[in-house]
Amino acid sequence: MTKYQIVIKRAECIQCGNCWNVDPSHFESDNNGISQVINGETTAEISKGTFDDDKIDLAKQAEEECPVEIILVVEV
Ligand code: SF4
Repeated sequence: MTKYQIVIKRAECIQCGNCWNVDPSHFESDNNGISQVINGETTAEISKGTFDDDKIDLAKQAEEECPVEIILVVEV
């Protein structure tokens, strides 16, 4: 199983919603409409979480489609 980390630079999020529409198992909106990693560590600037499920392809798709390129998905 692939282990990977997702990082979102939340301060630059434009709240388009694409990430949680593409990959609702890893991304969600916070109460202000800004993206965060589900069950991750989240501050005003950054949200991050590590996963070992089989859905890295969806996370990668969200990374590729973020219009402001603030999502990073890396194998760890
Ligand atoms: S796709 Fe990017 S800009 Fe859009 S909500 Fe997700 S993190 Fe924010």
